Amino acid sequence: MEPVVSPLPDRGALAFAREAYRGLALYDPMREPCELDLSDNTNRFGVPPAARRVLAAADTEAITRYPAVYARDLKQAIADYAGVAPECVVTGCGSDDVLDSSIRAFTEPGDRLAYPDPTFPMLPVFARMNGLEGVAVPLAEDGDADAAGLLEPRARVTYLCSPNNPTGRATAPQRIERVLDAAAGVVILDEAYIEFASPQRSFAPVAAARGNLLVTRTLSKAFGLAGLRIGYGIGSPEIVAEVEKSRGPYKVGGLTERAAMAALTEDREWVASRVAETLAHRVRFAEALRGLGLRPLDSSANFVLVPVPAAAATAAAMRRAGVAVRAFPGLHRHGDALRISIGTWPQMERALAALGGALS
Ligand SMILES: *Cc1c(COP(=O)(O)O)cnc(C)c1O
Repeated sequence: MEPVVSPLPDRGALAFAREAYRGLALYDPMREPCELDLSDNTNRFGVPPAARRVLAAADTEAITRYPAVYARDLKQAIADYAGVAPECVVTGCGSDDVLDSSIRAFTEPGDRLAYPDPTFPMLPVFARMNGLEGVAVPLAEDGDADAAGLLEPRARVTYLCSPNNPTGRATAPQRIERVLDAAAGVVILDEAYIEFASPQRSFAPVAAARGNLLVTRTLSKAFGLAGLRIGYGIGSPEIVAEVEKSRGPYKVGGLTERAAMAALTEDREWVASRVAETLAHRVRFAEALRGLGLRPLDSSANFVLVPVPAAAATAAAMRRAGVAVRAFPGLHRHGDALRISIGTWPQMERALAALGGALS
């Protein structure tokens, strides 16, 4: 029998689309090219040198052949860097991919996904993409995550982000532990900015040892490799095996894998120096913001959140002056605010001038 191909009904392909995707828009972080982009917290200091050398020397094999199915060598390099066993590591096409894969691995459509509000703006998107009910739990009075509030929905997956994007606040370890001890399902702790906080207080070793925590991290921020798309998760071997099923094979490109391995082994000092510069500039920049009469939040990351009136209009005016920052209008607890990435000092001076101009 011939397959029946009927013409599309009036609603077009939408009629065939997954129910949960109705009304789901493509992710739009408003990232038009701009002379100086301080909007996405990537490393503004350039490319780590060993990674650069690997990319420049790309050979035929790295391009024409499939990469390692589950990136075994990269997992080993990450394990050495994070101080865990390689069977506790899963990689992905950016940590976005690791987050999405792990959320999918531990939920059925219709389940709940609890996350702080505000947090990484991709979380509500991942909830929708996976047919889940996203439960946004307002930050506590003190600006940190609300452990009791996050536990309340008894979600299949509970997400925490430390340091939190966009507030920059590191979550108190006792709150993370409280969530871990009482969560009804799996806990995902996003440590995308851990290199700027206190890496020795990472929950990676805890994740490797217990069965209900996955820590996610990325090479997009401190390591400066956002364009290559490399992220990873750390959990018990059992947790990691489930995420790997959901992730699927060949998610990290061959050349990307080699560059990432070079960065993790040979570029650590380069990264540490850039992190140190970032922290010094963050202090100076926050002081300068206070000099403009603003009240930036304390940050443990490579960005600051600063409440301003009319954030969208202020960001638009800064953009006209050649500086892109991320506007967060109507944030829970903070109202309108701008999130500004920390880069070189000349870049920060330019951002200050653009902000001063936009506010006057
Ligand atoms: C930037 C960011 C990520 C995503 O990083 P990729 O690895 O580039 O996908 C994840 N979580 C948070 C909180 C981020 O800010």
